[in-house]
Amino acid sequence: MRRLVVVGGALAGHRAAIQARRLDAELDITVLAGEDELPYQRPPLSKGYLAGTVSAQRVRLRGGGEGYRFLSGSPAVGVDLAKSLVFTADNAYPFDLLVVATGAEPRQLRGFAPDEAIIYLRTLTDATRLKEALTRIGHLTIIGGGFIGAEVAVTARSLGVNVTVVEQSSHLLSRAVGQRVSSIVEHNLHERNIELLLNSTANLETMRDHRLVSNGTQSWPTDLVVVGVGVVPCTAWLGGALPLAEDEGIHVNEMGLVEGFEQVGAAGDVASWDHPLYGRSVRFEHFEVATNHALHTAQALVANRRVAYGELPFGWSDQGDLLLQVIGVPGPDLTEEVEEVEGGKIFLYRRDDRLEGAVLMNAPEELTKLRDRITASLGSQ
Ligand code: NAP
Repeated sequence: MRRLVVVGGALAGHRAAIQARRLDAELDITVLAGEDELPYQRPPLSKGYLAGTVSAQRVRLRGGGEGYRFLSGSPAVGVDLAKSLVFTADNAYPFDLLVVATGAEPRQLRGFAPDEAIIYLRTLTDATRLKEALTRIGHLTIIGGGFIGAEVAVTARSLGVNVTVVEQSSHLLSRAVGQRVSSIVEHNLHERNIELLLNSTANLETMRDHRLVSNGTQSWPTDLVVVGVGVVPCTAWLGGALPLAEDEGIHVNEMGLVEGFEQVGAAGDVASWDHPLYGRSVRFEHFEVATNHALHTAQALVANRRVAYGELPFGWSDQGDLLLQVIGVPGPDLTEEVEEVEGGKIFLYRRDDRLEGAVLMNAPEELTKLRDRITASLGSQ
């Protein structure tokens, strides 16, 4: 009987395992999960779950832990590819096929070690702590004006908490989008009386048992700090056994497999895959990519269906009544054009003549058209 080991028990690991089960009823499947939780989805953790409109039950993924052996609280600590073994602290798991779906972890900010009043939001446990804290605090400081920062700010404000966001660059969401989209996000926060400190880095001070955050020009007391300054792919446990791409993700080919180790695939936030339309490797930290990429990788590994994964990356962000949908790969280094559409706007991102990505603002009905436009543009070059 063939053995599949999936390292990572979040969305991508779960999807890879259930797809593998569909493809091979006899396969022995073990999922090694770092957390003590059945698989769950992350998008509500910075929004509905915090606000209390989405329950813990609804956050969990349907069928999580069913149809495969799910070992919670069993993070992998090493791998021996020559012997086809994955190690946890107290066991070794032999495999014929291996999927790495270890995701990413929050980048730690110097001077802000996590404690009872400093939260890095990534897991359901982190979100539960934050949700509870938001019911009793008056002021929240968020460091980092990315997706976590913008979404948590809007949610906390909707619960009556005063919020200050400290962002080191001159724009919010500065890694993902261009200036015009950033300005809309900033406007949305201003309208909700969320304080925004751009071009700022934060320091933590303690004064008579109270915590103050300062940015060099001003300081303010705060009850809680949320740090959201990006994530790094979880690859340290591999000890350099697999090749990494420039963006630090595990480098996989168009099929989701590691070149030179074709019994090994990777999927989700940890994987950087050679995208057939972009002609370069891309890593995208959003729900839909984790889902679909994992299905694809499992298919290539388990059923030897070698089909290039050429879907355009897609993600979304709800910030109150502002809905942003990101399709393709926009970026601050591309030219940004705006088009007005009924009910909203679309922002197009081009590299020379190539349409590489778009952001839709309150215009979900334009999504299919834009997906086709981007695919056609990339495919014709
Ligand atoms: P992020 O979206 O990469 O944003 C991090 C932000 O923090 C950047 O704007 C960055 O600015 C800023 N920053 C970095 N160091 C800082 C410092 N010392 N002081 C102040 N600001 C600093 O990361 P995130 O918000 O932490 O989100 C984590 C991951 O979860 C991301 O992969 C994100 O895509 C994902 N996520 C997605 C969604 C969604 O799709 N709706 C929602 C939540 C989270 P610079 O660019 O100048 O470094």
